[in-house]
Amino acid sequence: MTFERVKRPEVIKLPTMLDFYPLEDERHTRVSLFFKYLRDGRFMTTKCKRCEKLLWPPRVVCSTCLSDELYWVDLGVEGELYAFTEVRLGAPLGFVQDVPFCVGIVKISGLLISARIDGAKYEDLRIGDRVKLKVVELEDGRVFYRFVKA
Ligand SMILES: [Zn+2]
Repeated sequence: MTFERVKRPEVIKLPTMLDFYPLEDERHTRVSLFFKYLRDGRFMTTKCKRCEKLLWPPRVVCSTCLSDELYWVDLGVEGELYAFTEVRLGAPLGFVQDVPFCVGIVKISGLLISARIDGAKYEDLRIGDRVKLKVVELEDGRVFYRFVKA
């Protein structure tokens, strides 16, 4: 039996575990298409061919029937604010500079999706408000979704 020796790196890059955004490329996720679509302004997820369950987050295997025959569906870009709150203290690393900010649950195409709600103060939001997708590009080129009042 042979072993490959692994050298300790000179510099340890800090730390992916504290990065709340997923790694998006094909090497790191089998749902990299989600991010490709998102980059194009499309909010997509997977749906099961066998049992028709709409899955969130996008998956490669159905969480209900375990089928891997899934297809991509467009959720649209507008939803409804189902619940929300404001983060005033205790934001995680990487978000401290944004405090205060709003987070919410957006109802879109029958799914309930948690996301940041940008561009509005807590006092300006109401349950039932129409919200629309906002694609945020991170400094390293990755993209992620948030919502803003429509
Ligand atoms: Zn299924």
